[in-house]
Amino acid sequence: MNKEITIVGAGLAGSEAALQLAGRGWQVKLYEMRPHTMTPAHETDRCAELVCSNSLKSLRTDTAAGLLKQELKLLDCKLLDIAQDNAVAAGHALAVDRDAFAIAVTELIEQHPNITLLRQEITGIPEGKVILAGGPLTSDALMQALIEKLGEQHLYFFDAIAPIVSADSLDRSIVFDKSRYDKGEADYLNCPFTKEEYLQFVEALQNGEKHTAHEFENELFQDVSFRFYENCMPVEELARRGVDTLRFGVLRPVGLEDPRTGRRPYAVMQLRSENQDRTAFNLVGCQTMLRYGVQKEVFRKIPGLQDAEFLRYGSIHRNSYLNSPALLSDNLSLKQMPDVWLAGQFSGVEGYTESIAMGLLIAMIIDHSVTHGDVLFPLPETTILGQFWRRLITPSEQRFQPVNANFGLLPELINIDRKNKKTELVNRALEHLSVWIKTNRE
Ligand SMILES: Cc1cc2nc3c(=O)[nH]c(=O)nc-3n(C[C@H](O)[C@H](O)[C@H](O)COP(=O)(O)OP(=O)(O)OC[C@H]3O[C@@H](n4cnc5c(N)ncnc54)[C@H](O)[C@@H]3O)c2cc1C
Repeated sequence: MNKEITIVGAGLAGSEAALQLAGRGWQVKLYEMRPHTMTPAHETDRCAELVCSNSLKSLRTDTAAGLLKQELKLLDCKLLDIAQDNAVAAGHALAVDRDAFAIAVTELIEQHPNITLLRQEITGIPEGKVILAGGPLTSDALMQALIEKLGEQHLYFFDAIAPIVSADSLDRSIVFDKSRYDKGEADYLNCPFTKEEYLQFVEALQNGEKHTAHEFENELFQDVSFRFYENCMPVEELARRGVDTLRFGVLRPVGLEDPRTGRRPYAVMQLRSENQDRTAFNLVGCQTMLRYGVQKEVFRKIPGLQDAEFLRYGSIHRNSYLNSPALLSDNLSLKQMPDVWLAGQFSGVEGYTESIAMGLLIAMIIDHSVTHGDVLFPLPETTILGQFWRRLITPSEQRFQPVNANFGLLPELINIDRKNKKTELVNRALEHLSVWIKTNRE
């Protein structure tokens, strides 16, 4: 049995995958380009450096971020343990002392007899079994090598994400089902604006405070190809172009007469389903750089969204990732190169904990495939991790956007009142995962 592997990138995903595989008897060569080649965001040469906030988000058991952590705990996640050992007081969140956390991970990796940490930038795809975990700031040379192998259309350099709201928080006395000109099966939900409501919404967008982009992101946003890619223009920028821009663009009401009145609203915000159960909807065209708190305030001005529950906020970031659903086979390796796996943000998840989770999942899949000679049985679809796996291999007509932990990913629970929904989703996930572990663990 050949248990040798090369991992590119000693970030969150690469470090977790290395520790998992080394612990299962693999010989791991872990390549990290820092300090010789730095990314625009990292400041040290440490493994698993947190580049921005020091929070791994909520620990609360009734949140999706909390559920993901509980799933990781059941699956013996290494970096989560280290995070907990180096936690600082942060209420319900798991925040860490970033230096102590990264030092602890680096020491564990450096001292592990099965891991060789090599400080070198990888500029082509290595031979043998490989995990690419170069993260959202994967070096240009490696991106270029991938473009040559996989085609430019499958590599993305930024993400532009619209907020997602839960279906049961919408006011259905206002929001109506309809596809434009009745083409399609009333797939969209529609929020009708009066003139006054529209003007208030546009004004709120125009005045909303943006999050501060990093300097290297500002460079990206100045880039001509990015600026003219209208699908990714922040909604607040469109609002600033003129009071009618949205009404003649993404909020145009033509073909969207309200079936209850027969009249065409002044403008319409369309909501598109995020999953087959239609429990979560994204606000079409509302990719945004507004601060999270501001987003809540501004988007709740949309008629029918006054009590909206935000499962995920919108964002626009510099982010290198692959069009995984088009490129990956069921075991999350590249169809074109079956010995190459992706992990972390590069594979199409977003967030610290999500990246760690993908490092763990990929390590489990690879180890299982070599030890047992077959594909690991998929994690339950009721778990966040199981849904990451599914999302990364399920093609969709929309541009693939990175996925993070949110309850909108999980299949609906029938006949549960809204008050208990989250707790029940968490209980179901953990119960199913425990059964899966009993059945599938070697
Ligand atoms: C500026 C910025 C801020 C962010 N802030 C947050 C936040 O506050 N909260 C949050 O949850 N998420 C945040 N993210 C998103 C994401 O969670 C983090 O980027 C996370 O570190 C991703 O983990 P990863 O393992 O995929 O990549 P990384 O942790 O970035 O690890 C990738 C590693 O690969 C190395 N590498 C790259 N190319 C090569 C190569 N060719 N050869 C060798 N080594 C290479 C890099 O040096 C790096 O160490 C942020 C992302 C960015 C870019």
